[in-house]
Amino acid sequence: MGYPYGIRTLYLHSFLRWGSSSSLSKEVLLTLRSASISMAGYMSWIKDLPSPGIQQRSQPVESKAPSDLWTKCLDCGAILYHVEIERNRYVCVKCDFHFWMPVRERLQLLLDADTFVEEDADLIPTDPLQFKDLSAYAGRVVASQKKTKEMEAAIWGHGKIDGRKVSIALFNFEFMGGSMGSVVGEKITRCFEYAFENRTPAIVVSASGGARMQEGIYSLMQMAKTCSALQKMKRAGLPYISLLAHPTTGGVAASFAMLGDVAMAEPGALIGFAGPRVIEQTIRQKLPEGFQRAPFLLEHGMIDLIAHRKDQKKLLSQVFRHLHRPH
Ligand SMILES: [Zn+2]
Repeated sequence: MGYPYGIRTLYLHSFLRWGSSSSLSKEVLLTLRSASISMAGYMSWIKDLPSPGIQQRSQPVESKAPSDLWTKCLDCGAILYHVEIERNRYVCVKCDFHFWMPVRERLQLLLDADTFVEEDADLIPTDPLQFKDLSAYAGRVVASQKKTKEMEAAIWGHGKIDGRKVSIALFNFEFMGGSMGSVVGEKITRCFEYAFENRTPAIVVSASGGARMQEGIYSLMQMAKTCSALQKMKRAGLPYISLLAHPTTGGVAASFAMLGDVAMAEPGALIGFAGPRVIEQTIRQKLPEGFQRAPFLLEHGMIDLIAHRKDQKKLLSQVFRHLHRPH
């Protein structure tokens, strides 16, 4: 899995790895690379345009009470003492709604103790479009890094579940809404590639608002790249479990997150491409109660099961025992 180029050329890899590069001649690869370079140059005109005038949300997305001590449940609306939720694995004590859980704590929940080895922790996003709306993309990335103490919106590595080696990637929703840019896409791809090369199962825990708009088309290309790596793994008969946390939407839901051999959702999770409000405005119809929530999706065959956080490790282990034979 060596990458002979610097971090900036990861964007070019997005193009190159769209298809299976092994089947392409060196000449074709060079042509593709120069095409992608000219495309990157072409897209720099975006920086000359006036600001699109994007308005800031009047309400923060996180529905938190004024003090950090208290959090309002996004499902039942109960006001909960924050420490109490943390102690309860970030699950609402009133209605079992599963809040977003910090990635490092989730690793402890899912993997055997001290088995996780993180890979590519130093991959960081660049700013190919020099994007700026209300503030510059580069500045937003630095602010998120400071806030979350993580370098990007996903981490990946390998570890063990009940002694079985697994490749795992997790989204960090706190980092720019878990949006998928080039680096996140690359990490997910490498997670699948590792599973393929080492004949292990793979797990991706998704919690994402979708593609990262600040990286434009580079973000959208991650959908194809991740799915192509996943397909290679699936052809080799290796199982992949998609664990869908609240919320999983946009380009992440429209690619690898919905392609699990087994799709597990957390209670209360909102999963879908566009959000219910956008759909309602588009089709001008009232949507049914609980639309796009985990129970609704289970009832309509979009997911296989709803897994409470306390049972997730056990369920992952059981599924892999049935679907995977270590070599
Ligand atoms: Zn609740």
